[in-house]
Amino acid sequence: MIQVTRYEHPEFTSNTYLIQIDDHEDAWLIDAGFVDEVLQIPGIKVQGVFLTHDHYDHIYGLNNLIIRFPEITIYGSKYTLDCIKDARKNLSFYRQMPVEVLHLNVHVLQDGDLIFLHHTEQILCMETPGHNPGCMSYIIDKLLFTGDSFIPGHPVITKLKGGNKELNAISLKKIEGLIVQGMHIYPGHKEIYSNPELHQLKPLE
Ligand SMILES: [Zn+2]
Repeated sequence: MIQVTRYEHPEFTSNTYLIQIDDHEDAWLIDAGFVDEVLQIPGIKVQGVFLTHDHYDHIYGLNNLIIRFPEITIYGSKYTLDCIKDARKNLSFYRQMPVEVLHLNVHVLQDGDLIFLHHTEQILCMETPGHNPGCMSYIIDKLLFTGDSFIPGHPVITKLKGGNKELNAISLKKIEGLIVQGMHIYPGHKEIYSNPELHQLKPLE
């Protein structure tokens, strides 16, 4: 049984998702914008964090996470893993709160990679560029984590540095093709969409 908990950053509104399987102490995160409450959970062992992209609001808590879990694996596209090291690239510099993450245990993801979580579940990693060149979306069973590549009911922002409208259109088609009945959508901002009507989930370009 997969349990997902959403934590919204009080200022940036970005979502961080905690994934727990059955009652195991091992856990994983999708993004790490706001980890304060995760760090308070007694006995939890966060094994890895899967980044949807490098923007500061999705990585702001990474360094605190690493202090608590020095062995943690950071997963992401090559672009994302490069940009988290550079405050100008991840845009945190321009918000007067530079975030630079220098961590050795990183795992570069390619489109279609499958990573085991706890030997029982797998996470499928998909490149969904457009909002940003390094964007990835993730699927575990019928749970779809889209970051800022798809927020139901909201157009994808492609105006930031590295954004690309054409790539975004291709990625939205890809995401649309993945949506099946009974799916739960966990976007990078806003609420979780549980068991939505499929027609409500047509991506906006
Ligand atoms: Zn973003």
